[in-house]
Amino acid sequence: MAPKEQDAEEIGRRLFAQDCVFILGAAALAQVPETALSEIAFAGRSNVGKSSLINALTGQKTLARISNTPGRTQQINFFTLGGRLMLADLPGYGYAKAPKDIVKRWTRLVNSYLKGRQALRRTCMLIDARHGIKDTDRPVMTMLDKAAQPYQVVLTKCDKISAGRLESLIGEVAKELATHGAANPEVIATSAIKGIGIPYLRSTLAALASPA
Ligand code: GDP
Repeated sequence: MAPKEQDAEEIGRRLFAQDCVFILGAAALAQVPETALSEIAFAGRSNVGKSSLINALTGQKTLARISNTPGRTQQINFFTLGGRLMLADLPGYGYAKAPKDIVKRWTRLVNSYLKGRQALRRTCMLIDARHGIKDTDRPVMTMLDKAAQPYQVVLTKCDKISAGRLESLIGEVAKELATHGAANPEVIATSAIKGIGIPYLRSTLAALASPA
């Protein structure tokens, strides 16, 4: 690894080693906390591995447990990290059996949050490496485009597929991202279980943090 990349990973490691504190869960736009910090959001289908990824990034199991508590799964859960980043864990989507009013509520909450959130620096759009981008992900990507909120695809569970499949998947995803105005062209491959890509993702997010 080049010295510069090593430095960036060390900066990321140090930031994500700091205390991550639960602020609140917002079930409506009026409850979204004001913040002067840079914010990073995490979006993805239910079961994509969002909790596992946030745990792997922060090294704290309690945080994502909060987001998976009954009553909190339909909220945007906010955490501060080291007093320099706000993390916004968006509610999972894409339940096959989700009642229509839940889907409507999800769309209203997330869309209003994305449209008005000036602090938001990047959304990590999580995609399960075994499945690639699915039809339920596309409207969310379009919502991000329309809100002009920059996002980055993060592939999860990369330990589950071969290196060859991963390479072709990255190509397929990058090709689709080229058609989305707010998407970062880079696709980041991770595995929360094996720790793959975690130091790199920490370093890219740390680069967006508010100054110390
Ligand atoms: P969430 O619903 O998006 O928060 O997903 P979870 O983090 O709860 O993960 C859903 C399932 O995927 C669980 O059974 C996890 O153990 C599994 N999982 C999550 N991340 C990984 C990973 O990196 N590799 C593998 N093999 N499984 C994972």
